[in-house]
Amino acid sequence: MENKSKTLGKYSFGVGDRFSHQAQAQLSAFQKAKEQGVQITPVWNKSYREHQIISSNPRETRRQADLAIEKLRWDTPYFVDADHVTFDSVDFFLDSSDFFTLDVADYIGKSTLDENIHSFVEKHKRYVSELEIPGITEKFIVDIKRLEQIGQSYLKAVEEAGRTYRKIQASKGSDQFVVEVSMDETDKPQTPLEIFFILSGLAGENIPVDTLAPKFSGRFNKGVDYVGDLDLFRKEFEQDLAVIQYAIKEFSLPEGLKLSVHSGSDKFSLYPIIKEVIQSNNAGLHIKTAGTTWLEELIGLALAGGEGMEIVQKIYHESVQRFDELCGPYASVIDINKQNLPSEEVVNSWDGESFVRALRHDQSCQDYNPDLRQLLHVGYKVAAEMKDQYYPALDKYTDTIAEQVSENIYDRHMKPLFL
Ligand SMILES: [Zn+2]
Repeated sequence: MENKSKTLGKYSFGVGDRFSHQAQAQLSAFQKAKEQGVQITPVWNKSYREHQIISSNPRETRRQADLAIEKLRWDTPYFVDADHVTFDSVDFFLDSSDFFTLDVADYIGKSTLDENIHSFVEKHKRYVSELEIPGITEKFIVDIKRLEQIGQSYLKAVEEAGRTYRKIQASKGSDQFVVEVSMDETDKPQTPLEIFFILSGLAGENIPVDTLAPKFSGRFNKGVDYVGDLDLFRKEFEQDLAVIQYAIKEFSLPEGLKLSVHSGSDKFSLYPIIKEVIQSNNAGLHIKTAGTTWLEELIGLALAGGEGMEIVQKIYHESVQRFDELCGPYASVIDINKQNLPSEEVVNSWDGESFVRALRHDQSCQDYNPDLRQLLHVGYKVAAEMKDQYYPALDKYTDTIAEQVSENIYDRHMKPLFL
């Protein structure tokens, strides 16, 4: 497939700016990496779900990104990602985005026409045997039945990606945007063999896919560390990379095609593994982190004390009261033990430092509370509702907050992943 005018580059990093106040602070982290000789492409991502929850608009995301780029004189590519869009929700983003994450997870396992399954199987008959993929020592057994199963699980999702891609293409013109296909918000991880045939299907739909976000094994909960088997993750990640390299050649997919890790913030136990594996394979990576910046806003406000701290306490109390409502949309990506949430009395007795010790993702700190952290991660709706108080506070304490936002992205995320 032909090359695009704007490319993501080897390393790219998605940041989320829920309230459109932190784009400059976020970009300053990319600048620090650049000064250290590592080029990472910034991507501002916001999902349809997130826009809905806080009644925001992709035009504002674009405006803030452009403003930050201009202010900090960033002279290399950057993108605005329509995150987790479907055929129906994509219209909302067509004007403002140049990166589209086609979320087809809901179509996994949905049926398509029998004749489509049949031609999928026919097309891949040449792989029936023990399939060897360069870089993977074990062989994959492929037979007709396995091909049928993969077709039944994923063909509808692949077709849906094609339908959505063509809608964007018709509006924006070919090759003016980056395409990601995401299948992460589902129950079952995709195996490396499944990924191989999914990529074939995407090539068959003529989608010049730049990044693929599979579901990996283990739990990728919002704002907290990975929960799962690290050795298994390493093996899976290595195999996925090998499959992608092989699929690029087999199906003439874009040379720069790479893996995308969703809910990628705060997965501190995975970063050394990811870093080692991508470096030893000379592979690229896209990582999405969204809510981690919003939590740094809260940390900054708590550190500022006074009115800042009052707002944070209020957001926490309200989040506890509205637990089910706030957690509902994120059920598959959070695990909160309600028993571990501190009471209103306890939190009211805290000073800013105490709150920060509970909230900040520092696993070496005894007071760190991952349950409180996950709840606040999904509690941004409360802040959106009190925006007449919240936004002025973001402005008032902007320096304290910006320092936290930038440090979190650069020191805790970029450094262990890329530097
Ligand atoms: Zn995702």
